[in-house]
Amino acid sequence: MQDVKTLILGAGAAGMMCAIHAGAGTLVIDHAKAPGEKIRISGGGRCNFTNTDCGPGNFLSANRHFAKSALARYTQWDFIELVSRHNIAWHEKTLGQLFCDNSAKDIIAMLLAEMDAAGARLRLGVSAGEITHDGAVFRVTLSDGSTVRARNLVVATGGKSIPKMGATGFGYDVARQFGHDVLDTRPALVPLTFGDRFSPLSGVSLPVQAAANGTAFNEAMLFTHRGLSGPAILQISSFWREGEAITVDLMPGRDAFGALRALRQNAGGKAMATMLADLIPTRLAQALATDWALPARLADCSDKTLRDIGARLNGWTLTPTGSEGYRTAEVTLGGVDTAQISSRSMESTLQPGLFFIGEVLDVTGWLGGYNFQWAWSSGHAAGTEIARR
Ligand code: FAD
Repeated sequence: MQDVKTLILGAGAAGMMCAIHAGAGTLVIDHAKAPGEKIRISGGGRCNFTNTDCGPGNFLSANRHFAKSALARYTQWDFIELVSRHNIAWHEKTLGQLFCDNSAKDIIAMLLAEMDAAGARLRLGVSAGEITHDGAVFRVTLSDGSTVRARNLVVATGGKSIPKMGATGFGYDVARQFGHDVLDTRPALVPLTFGDRFSPLSGVSLPVQAAANGTAFNEAMLFTHRGLSGPAILQISSFWREGEAITVDLMPGRDAFGALRALRQNAGGKAMATMLADLIPTRLAQALATDWALPARLADCSDKTLRDIGARLNGWTLTPTGSEGYRTAEVTLGGVDTAQISSRSMESTLQPGLFFIGEVLDVTGWLGGYNFQWAWSSGHAAGTEIARR
């Protein structure tokens, strides 16, 4: 039997940040062999650790005000200061997204060094099993047969995305056990599938505006063997629902009808696909000329036909067959309902001493460093509250 002040379940981004602020008397456990595995693979190995434009508007949650307090008290600038203090070189890639120059492993090493300095301990290769609370302390049985007693229990076990890396949904069970509601979960920031419809276009990418359910993002889109991916599609996957259509503007910010009319003036006898290739990538132009059964030559098109083609280029409506699911999703939408969680401390309002932080909560960021910022901010909120007690 081991007695600790605070037991944190999960040595991911949120759990490690919480441990740094909770300090001495904290034990973090994880069933993985190494801490911060998602940090390690994030951002193509360079970890998009925050976003300079981060604010509450970049998050989805049933309560859109919930994230405000934690984000305001530990901001992107606080994390940038920490990274800079550890001499980790970083750069802005695009749209305020900050990445390590060298490797995501630098972020993990920084968090471990900070945990060590704060007096927090780490045990890997053990998973949490049965949890009870006797009115004073939590008792958690671990997979190695040992039991840990703790006054505070922090659930930082993440969501369901990438089960191959140990994502379990365990945190949702703990929440339900203590009377919490868990909102429906679904894969988000995930490629959308279209059968093999786009297989011949695999590898083609272009800047688009993609929209679903009234929310639009101007970023790149990529055709793959299975469907559509790229930042624009990952972003709208969080807003799309099964059976619904998405709209893709293939010429964002440009009037396609006007552009087609200008091309027609000099079209001569050129083939339709050749002319369209002036506006969009060649392989896509060829595919659309066939798919949309367009007239053979632009020169033969009436204004009405051009208007129709223009409308399609500026608003291509497509219905995905599904998404790639948790296998490749970067995050999980939904989760532990924030209605029964303090937005200041992340503590349960139903069970004193029980905290939920990071992705397990119903707070989901856009693509671009927002999800890690939520892990840092919510981990800090719980950790500082625990240190105060
Ligand atoms: P996690 O990081 O998932 O940590 C949870 C931990 O709990 C894990 O270590 C797991 O092993 C452990 N655990 C689970 N169940 C148990 C159990 N029963 N017992 C013991 N331990 C358990 N976000 C960004 O902001 N920027 C990016 O660049 C970015 N890139 C990403 C790339 C990929 C491929 C993926 C999958 C995600 C990416 N994300 C990115 C999202 C980001 O990784 C997550 O939002 C973030 O890691 C959530 O942190 P967390 O601490 O809540 O959960």
